[in-house]
Formats: sequence, C-alpha cells, structure tokens
Amino acid sequence: MILDDFVLIDDKGLYCKYGDFYLDPKLPAKNAVVTHAHADHAISGNIDVYCTRATATIMQLRYERTAAKVFHIVPFNQPFTIGKVKITFIPAGHMLGSAQILMEYEGTRYLYTGDYKLQPDATCEPIEWVKTDVLITESTFADPAVIHPDPVEEIKKINDIKINILLGAYGLGKSQRLINLITEHAPRKKILVHHKIMPINAIYENMGYRPGKYQVYGRKLMKVQDEFVYIVPPFTFDSYIRATGVKRLFASGWKNLQVNSQDTLFISDHVDWNDILETITRTQPKQVWTLHGDGRHLKNHFKDEIFVKILN
Ligand SMILES: [Zn+2]
Ligand SMILES: [Zn+2]
Repeated sequence: MILDDFVLIDDKGLYCKYGDFYLDPKLPAKNAVVTHAHADHAISGNIDVYCTRATATIMQLRYERTAAKVFHIVPFNQPFTIGKVKITFIPAGHMLGSAQILMEYEGTRYLYTGDYKLQPDATCEPIEWVKTDVLITESTFADPAVIHPDPVEEIKKINDIKINILLGAYGLGKSQRLINLITEHAPRKKILVHHKIMPINAIYENMGYRPGKYQVYGRKLMKVQDEFVYIVPPFTFDSYIRATGVKRLFASGWKNLQVNSQDTLFISDHVDWNDILETITRTQPKQVWTLHGDGRHLKNHFKDEIFVKILN
C-alpha cells in the first residue's frame, strides 16, 4: 500500500517520518540522506549524514568540520536502514557520487531521484534503473518545450571559434564534464582551469575519474591567441564582463544563462522532458510525485494513466 504521507515537505525540506530522516535537508537536521554534493542539496551542520564516498569527500572539502557530525558512507547498491526504512543508493548519473534514494517500507518502494541525467557522462557513474511503486522526481525541466540537444554536438561548436574562449560553468560536476567533452571532441583546444576548480578535479582523479587534459590558469597564458579555453566558475565569469579578445560562453541547460543568442552552449546535467518520460517507462511507477520545478505538464500528460502528485 502506498502511504500518501511517506514523504512530506516541511520547513527543513523533504521529510520521511517513517524513518525520521530528511532527504537533502535545506536546514540542518539530525538525520540527513544526501543525494549529491551540490550546495543546494548538501548543506553543512547536519548531525548524521548518509551519502556516498564522493559526496562526503566533496562536503568535507567545502565545509571542513561542519560537514557532518558523523558521516555514514554507503556504497551504491548496498542496502542499509534508518528506523524501519530500508534505503539503497542507486547511481543517478548527475555528477560523481550522485545517488537516487530507493526507500522500502512495508513492502512498498519509493524512489527519490535527486538530480539525475540520462546523457552519457564519462566523469560519473552512469544512471542505473530500478522498479518502484512511487517515483519522486525532480521536475526542473519537466516541460515538453524543453528538449536538450546532444552534448557532443554542442561542444563541437567550439571548434569553429578560433579566438580564446572564457567558459563559465559550475565548478562542481559541470566543469569536469566540460573538460572531458572538450578533451574528447575539441582536441585542439588547450584547457585552462580556474584554481578554485582544481581541488575538485583532484577528488575526481583520486576516485578514478580523470576528467581529461588541462592545466591550471596562469596570467601569462591567455596573453596570446592559442585556442585556449579557460573554464571559470560563475562568479569569476561575471567579473570578466568586459574582457576583450575572448569569446564568452556559459554552459548550461538554462536559456537565460546563455550569454547571447548566436553562441549558446546547452549542456545540462538534468533530465529534459523526454528523459523524464523514459525514466517513467523504465521505473514503472504506480504514482509520480514531483518536486523542484513544475509538475503540471506531467500531470496533464498522464491524466488517468498514472497518478501524479505535485509535492511543492
Ligand atoms: Zn545537482
Ligand atoms: Zn539540484
């Protein structure tokens, strides 16, 4: 039997009272099950944090002593329990260490996707599929109007840009994916990386996921035109607004983050409309609960076929 109140949103975030834990709490919690290390999912100050090793390592880099009182590091596909809920981490394909959270209680399965993607990405564990009774999915891009282009075709566009490129991207996950895509599909480019991104690259490398070929940025390097691509985090990108002799690009699934209409780089680490439909086909849920975004399109699409509940 599906419990309609198995997870509910309260002021700290998504809460499961049957196990007394939060999923990606937004305020510090006693028990926090954390899907991945992006800052909007992994905050500091929780007491007991349950996550994968990569997530814990990145949280420790960012938050040091306040990352958690106790980390409970659990490998993928190895069940554990909190309260009476059996939990299993399933690879989500979103970034290194990102997990879907499978929760089993009284014979019913609830799968919280966290952020996830289906596109291939050599810098993280590929998504794995499990069947579930309730799919609790993020719906950031759950709109039939949003179809992400092929990331390989997107990145190949930079081969036509001969001047140096200033490439804005989130430092964690996206930057490593871009290093990999450029190394593979724009091999003439010389990749420079902002120093703030280097410790994250080191974690990826320690865990066996070498992103590609790059060197740390140095002031002298960009003085000449030599097909450099300098990858910088958003804050630095914004401060270079008047940079001359470089093409500015920002890699994102969001239209409004693109710098201009001619030069876009739609590379998203979230599912688009078709990906969500495929996920529903593969996980075969009886119900779909949505959060992070707009679930109304899914509700209309499935009408009487699958019950869709909008959590946020
Ligand atoms: Zn994320
Ligand atoms: Zn997110």
